[in-house]
Formats: sequence, structure tokens, C-alpha cells
Amino acid sequence: MSTPFTATILGAPRIGPNRELKRAVERYWAGRIDRAALEEIAAGLRRDALSELTRAGLDSVPVNTFSYYDQFLDTAALLGALPNRVRGVADDLDRYFAAARGTADIAPLEMTKWFDTNYHYLVPEIGPDTAFTLHPEKVLSELKEARSQGVPARPVIIGPITFLALSKAVDGAGAPIERLGELLPLYTDLLGRLADAGAEWVQVDEPVLVTDILDNGPELAEQVYTALAGAAKRPAILVATYFGEPGAVLPALARTQIEGVAVDFVAGGDQSISGLADKLLVAGVVDGRNIWRTDLHAALARLDGLVGSAAAVAVSTSCSTLHVPYSLESETELDDALRSWLAFGAEKVEEVATLATALRSGRDSVAAELEASSRAVASRVRDPRLHNDEVRTRLDAVLAGGLGRGPAVERRKAQDARLDLPSLPTTTIGSFPQTVEIRKARAALVGGEIDETEYTNRMKAEVETVIRLQEDLGLDVLVHGEPERNDMVQYFAEQLDGFFATKNGWVQSYGSRCVRPPVLFGDVTRRQPMTVDWATYAQTLTDKPVKGMLTGPVTILAWSFVRDDQPLADSANQVALAIRDETVDLQSAGIAIIQVDEPALRELLPLRDADKAAYLKWAVDAFRLSTSGVSDATQIHTHLCYSEFGEVIGAIADLDADVTSIEAARSHMEVLDDLNGIGFANSVGPGVYDIHSPRVPTADEMVTSLRHALGAVPAERLWVNPDCGLKTRKTDEVTESLRHMVQAARLVRATG
Ligand code: GLN
Ligand code: ZN
Repeated sequence: MSTPFTATILGAPRIGPNRELKRAVERYWAGRIDRAALEEIAAGLRRDALSELTRAGLDSVPVNTFSYYDQFLDTAALLGALPNRVRGVADDLDRYFAAARGTADIAPLEMTKWFDTNYHYLVPEIGPDTAFTLHPEKVLSELKEARSQGVPARPVIIGPITFLALSKAVDGAGAPIERLGELLPLYTDLLGRLADAGAEWVQVDEPVLVTDILDNGPELAEQVYTALAGAAKRPAILVATYFGEPGAVLPALARTQIEGVAVDFVAGGDQSISGLADKLLVAGVVDGRNIWRTDLHAALARLDGLVGSAAAVAVSTSCSTLHVPYSLESETELDDALRSWLAFGAEKVEEVATLATALRSGRDSVAAELEASSRAVASRVRDPRLHNDEVRTRLDAVLAGGLGRGPAVERRKAQDARLDLPSLPTTTIGSFPQTVEIRKARAALVGGEIDETEYTNRMKAEVETVIRLQEDLGLDVLVHGEPERNDMVQYFAEQLDGFFATKNGWVQSYGSRCVRPPVLFGDVTRRQPMTVDWATYAQTLTDKPVKGMLTGPVTILAWSFVRDDQPLADSANQVALAIRDETVDLQSAGIAIIQVDEPALRELLPLRDADKAAYLKWAVDAFRLSTSGVSDATQIHTHLCYSEFGEVIGAIADLDADVTSIEAARSHMEVLDDLNGIGFANSVGPGVYDIHSPRVPTADEMVTSLRHALGAVPAERLWVNPDCGLKTRKTDEVTESLRHMVQAARLVRATG
């Protein structure tokens, strides 16, 4: 076996500690800096990252995990699999960005979620005329750069199985995975070149092998890695599985001649390892995806148990630290206790190094670190914020009372009597454009130039504008427009005990887009009503009903870092209880319609089929807990988007909302047939136009969509609304689009 290493991580963030890459790339797109300037900034970020990782004590450092946009798109470029339509773009970097973002005349690649993380990758399109060819310049130059810095560099590439399994077939081509045979010579060629360039190890990522996406994962793994291990000249191969338990894939890989396997002991839990007598086991014992400090004693105990099950054991993060913020250094506002419970990217690297030292030189050599870890673990367990008996007792009592409301027909009667809506009622999903004035006001509040009162006044003025606009347009159910919300999750997290917001905890979501997820660390309580003032203020301005707008418990969890010391279902119920209290207060304040958004319902779906039903059960229960505290006469809406709903369609019906608005424009209303297929009988508002594009749809198009929808849903159950919230659009686009939407609804009401 080639020299085994002892301490590594599987990949690192690349947006820059202060989002330098995001800014540089956006300036490049805007034409404000040239390619050379962009490349210089990127090279600087890579250089700093590499020297930090080496300085922290890693003896094998991942390279080629840098990306201008997305590592999956980099792989498509590596394999000559960018879509044909970008071929005409002369500059290779611009061609790459064209595939990522589109241009005036080129449609971008589709984007979808990277496993069950909040990162999104670009989905390569494999057509009959995709001719794979190798373009190894990026990985070779990053390897060379790292080696010239004296870094023990280990290039990382996405493996052929994962690449094909996550690509999509276009133009009538067969499943991409059928083309594995064509990729093997390219990978073999690449391995040779990496060896020539001095790579001792290469990491080949195959996370798809921990899912049920392929039914013959173990067979494919054995075939592919037997073939690649047979390359005449190559570095030692580390196949990285992560995000779950490799199961039968592990013995399959063990039978090949590769030199190492990385296993995720966080998402995958404890697993017995065997068959690696001649291989390096890279043990992912430090959580690469969540922000909690590792219990070093527990990790060491696990590592001790693994020593002997492989020729050598190296310590690692469970996956790339791409999914956590850079470092705790800038989180200066956290109290000491909270801070001591956390580890962001930089701190995780230190944990890996500490554990590796302990394995090599004994626990005494890291006594101080172990001691600090124990103190942190003990302080977290003891902290009163983690365990609020009052909340837990109340939750048990509410749960014991059951989560049902009256039968849907009875609710319908009570609501119809109260609301007096026309058939095919028109509404929107909640947000209106976040205008320049709104953003300025928010910045001024943060910067201390205006106070809370002034900020609230400005937001109220915005609410009034939005209410007037909706009245002018003739919409039937109005919204306040959500101007006061920076983000639909963070807004609630900031008002709930048990959450905190980071100052600089940015994580890449896709391309140059970064998010700053809140951290759920303790038991959740609502200090006071969170949205009631806004909803009631809006309601004073109009006689039409104004919908109260809340984010559902599953979505709040999906877009936060969650506590790891209790089942997600328990955390979901605590959040749900807070949302439930809010719905009751909205109802008492006279609000007749309340929408609880769950756009992320599908996102937390487990990777293994066997785990899906249990997840859907608690997710649905949490939603129902949050919405069953109101009377039958209060109409509950929900909103879902961002997905193919196939696997969660039954759960959507089980949510039992009175009205479900759902993204449908891009899929031509297919979701309605799926809902019919499972006997869904409540009201539904399939989006009649796609808000992701600046194009203003005509009334005619929406008439067509509505008639199409009426083929699947009777008029008395059909609502008319856009696909999603309007916050990212411009006011003129929104005004025209909604005007056309109302016209379309009126026309169809009159003519059927
Ligand atoms: N109510 C939210 C909005 O309108 C819903 C956003 C979403 O579905 N992601 O913006
Ligand atoms: Zn949406």
C-alpha cells in the first residue's frame, strides 16, 4: 500500500472566509473585473486555504475542491459533457458560466439538491451526441499549484458512477449510467496524468453509493473500481462514500485493488468494518455537515474500535466541510457556553488533527484538548436552555389531545359561510418584490442610521402600497407582502428562543448564492406573537380577507443547523407548537385565513427508501400540530414548491390543509393528476405561471392553464395563484403578471 496518511478532510468551502469569491465572481459577471483579476483572487483564496489546512496538521490535503460555481459542473467540463448549446461561447470560463447561469439565448442547466444537503448542483445533460473527452487542465493545474506550495495534495474528483447516476438523459438518450463503459478509459487516462503530476493519492467521490438511486450499486462499484485499480500507472485510490452507510458497497469495494475507502460514521452511524486488511480506512468521525463540536472522547472510542479493522486508519470529517461556515472566529456575539459547543470548518480541521495525534501518540499528547472537549460536552448537557420542562409538558398535553380538525367538508362549510369568496379565488403566495427601498431600510436599521420605529413605519408604508396594489388588481385574498422578512426561516428563528443567528456563518447554496442558516440549539419557545401586528395592520387597510403568513416546522428545520442531541421529530414538534400558538393568536386577532408554508417538505426526505415513511410521518404530524389549533372556520393554506412531488404526494394529502398552493407551471399541471390519483379532495391552487422568469405571461396562456387544470379539478376546489412568492421579481413585472392572472380567472369564471 502507498504511504497511508493519518489526518484529512474530504473537501473544504471555497466561497472565501468573507465571501470573497462570491463578490469576485459577481463582479466578473457584471463586467467590472476581467478574467485575470478573477483568477488572481481565486488563486489567493486557494493558496490561503491550503496553507491553513497544512498548518493545522493535515498530512493529506484535498485539492480541486475549489470551484468557480459547482464541482459537479466542473466534472461535466472535465469529461467534455457540457451541453452542446454552450459550444459557441468562445472563452472557456464564459462557456462554463453559460452552462451554469444561461445567457440571453442559452438556457442554463437545471439545478437540484445535492443529496439531503442545502447545496445545489447543476445537472449535466447526457444526450445521444454527448461525446465524452478528457479536459484535465483544472485538476492538473490545481494539483501543480498545491505541490509548488509544498502541500501534500490529494486531488478530489467525482467518480463515474455518481456522475452518471446524477446526470439526466436528454434528446431521447438512454439512462446515462449505461454509458459507464465510455467513461472508464477517460478516468484511467486521468489517473495516469495525476500520477505523472506527482499525486500520491486521488480521492474519488461516490456518494451515490449510499442511496437507493441505483439498484445495482455494489456490482457497479466492484466493476468500476476493479477496472480503475487495474490502470497501468496511477496514484493510490481512495473511494469516498459519505452522507450515509455504504452497506453492501463496502465489501464490494473491499474486493477491488483500490487502496482506501472513506466511510461516514456520522450520517452512517456505527458500522462494523471488515475486509479492509490491505486498505486504508478514512474514518469520518467529525461531522462535516453540522456545526457541533465533536465529543473527542466518543470519537476516540470509536476510532479505537476501528483500529485493526483495516491496514491503517486515518481521521477525517464525515464529508466535505463545504456545508459549514468557515470559522468561529468572527462569531464574537455568542456567549461563551454556546460558543464552546460549536465547531465550524476551521475548528473541525483542528479536531481531526487532534484525534489523529491522539491515535498516533496517545491520549496524553492531547490532554488539554480532550479536557476542553469534555468540559464543553458537560456544559451543553447541563445548560438550562436545552431542556425547558414547561414546553415539554405542554407539548405532551397538546399531542395527547390529537392533531385532527373537523372533517374537511364541515370546515369547508364553515369557511364558505365566513369568507364569501367567488369561484376560482385569486391570491398570491405571500411575498411581494423586495424593493430597493426595503433593502435600504433594512441596511439602515442594521447600520444604526434609523431606529426600530422608523423601520417599522417604512415597512408599514410598503404594506399599504402592496394592499392598494392588490385591491386595484382585484385579487380576492390579499397578503401583506412580507417586506419585514429578510428570509422566511431566519425571520422566525430570530424571534424564537432556542435559536441563534450567526454573524458570518455563510454557506454556499449554489454558485455565488450563500445562505446563513440559523442554529437551533435548545428547546423552542415563542417569546411573544411574531406576525400578528403585521397581519392585523394589513387587515385594517382592506375589507378583503388578508392571509396570515407563517413558515412551517419542517421548512424551519430544513433551512437551519439542527441540534444533534435529540431526534429531529422532537425538535420539529417544538417548533410546531410555537407556530400553532401563532395561528391561534392570528385567529383571535380576526385573521380568517392562515398559510403555513412547507416548501422544504421534500428536502429532508431520507436517502434510503427504508427510512422515508418514518420521516414523512413525523413531518406530516408536525405540520398538523402547527395547524390544528384553530377552529374549522379558519381556513388553513399551505404552499409547496421546488420539487417533483412524486415521493411526497401522499404526505401532501395527509397535511390536510384546506387549500394547497403548489408549483405546477413548469410541469404543466401534472401534479394535479398525481393528487387525483391518491384521492386528494381539498382545494388546490396549482401555480398558473412561473415566477422564476422575468417574462410576463399573457392572460391567454393562463386561461389555457386554468382550463387544463379544470380538466383535473372541479371549479369549486380550484384556486388561482402564481407558482411561488414574488420577492425576487420587479414590481412592474409582478403588476402586469397579476393583472393578467386576474383577467384570466374572470374569463374562465364567466365562460368555464
Ligand atoms: N410565503 C413565501 C413567499 O411568498 C413562500 C416562499 C417559498 O415558497 N419559498 O415568499
Ligand atoms: Zn414557493
